[in-house]
Amino acid sequence: MNDATFLKDFPIFSHQVGEKRLVYLDNAATNQHPACVLEAMDTYYRRWNANPHRGVYRLSSESTKLYEGARQAVADFIHSKSSDCIVFTRNTTESLNLLSWTYARMVLQKGDEIVIPVSEHHSNMVPWQQACKATGASLVFLYPDSDGIYSEEEIEKKISSRTKIVSFALVGNVLGLGLPAEKLIKKAHSVGAIVIADCAQSIGHTPLDVSDLDVDFAAFSGHKMFGPMGIGVLYGKWELLEAMPPFLTGGDMIEYVQEQESSFAPIPQRFEAGTPDVAAAVGLQAAIEYIKKIGYKTLREVEAEVTTYALERLSKFPWIKMYGKPLTGERKFPIITFTVEGIHPHDVASILDEDGISIRAGHHCAQPLMHFLQVPATCRVSFSIYNTKADIDALVVGLLHARRVFGYEH
Ligand code: PMP
Repeated sequence: MNDATFLKDFPIFSHQVGEKRLVYLDNAATNQHPACVLEAMDTYYRRWNANPHRGVYRLSSESTKLYEGARQAVADFIHSKSSDCIVFTRNTTESLNLLSWTYARMVLQKGDEIVIPVSEHHSNMVPWQQACKATGASLVFLYPDSDGIYSEEEIEKKISSRTKIVSFALVGNVLGLGLPAEKLIKKAHSVGAIVIADCAQSIGHTPLDVSDLDVDFAAFSGHKMFGPMGIGVLYGKWELLEAMPPFLTGGDMIEYVQEQESSFAPIPQRFEAGTPDVAAAVGLQAAIEYIKKIGYKTLREVEAEVTTYALERLSKFPWIKMYGKPLTGERKFPIITFTVEGIHPHDVASILDEDGISIRAGHHCAQPLMHFLQVPATCRVSFSIYNTKADIDALVVGLLHARRVFGYEH
């Protein structure tokens, strides 16, 4: 195996960006898709497309089987005790909004607190601001040190008997650091709070075992684990989901409808109003099979090699400032956030784009973290199984090009 072993699985890399080879370094935003995922979705539409759960005809029951099979595959993949605990949504954002509009509004009262780290993505922040506004509860923040590490003292200080919900990303999308999940979960449960794990950034890199971790809810998106856009997952403990009112209402989520009143379907259908994206569910199952075939261990090894190489090369330049503790190994995920002295991150990204290199620039949907770090915008590169050391070499050449454009010798 060399570092380009997996590149051939991804058809997008056989296309150029203009005259240039595509160097895709924005995997924390979304992954590219292996051919097996594209083929699974194509086959669904060519052979099995029909509305699931409704028709009595063969095509509809095949579609239902595929959709429910995908749900079971997700349940097995994340070690959920039952596929009833897997709700399909559109993405992580929708999964978290579902909880904000149902669970949070159901349990929160004035004086209660929701605790989240300040490094959270806006998707795990704005829904809680809204729930607090609606209920009179308060949003309390955990702050890291200047390297982005959360201390045990901070966790002990902020999570208290007032805390009803603790919600955090297992891996942060800006600094690429793993959060101290075990400590947060243990402390939250010791005060009777429930835990929501935002697994958007972790699911593409490391296994999720909801039973072992003992999280109450978990949310992630298919498109960050080689699956399609438009499908997300909300896992919830059975008794919690069962007690929750519906989020969106209409077809497919009811038991019986009268003129003025309706009763609702059991979980998970109660949370899946309207025609679902069956092709995306099928694509997600294919993505799960792809990850299982490679194995998270290999995935992590390939990514760690590229990340370590990138950290080594970028750290040679005094005009690059990297953010977050540059840990490698278990706690460091394949995300590097940096600024280039004298050049705005958007200019860096635009010049790299001329060289066929896609990187992210901006606030990365984490403005409170950027405020905490006292930097308005940064560049972010993030890697996946198909990135190679040649990609990092191209990045370095591109950054030197950007420096030249702005009048620096190197
Ligand atoms: N949480 C984290 C940690 C993320 O990185 C992202 C996506 N960047 C999200 C939530 C939102 O994911 P989506 O846009 O798929 O809803």
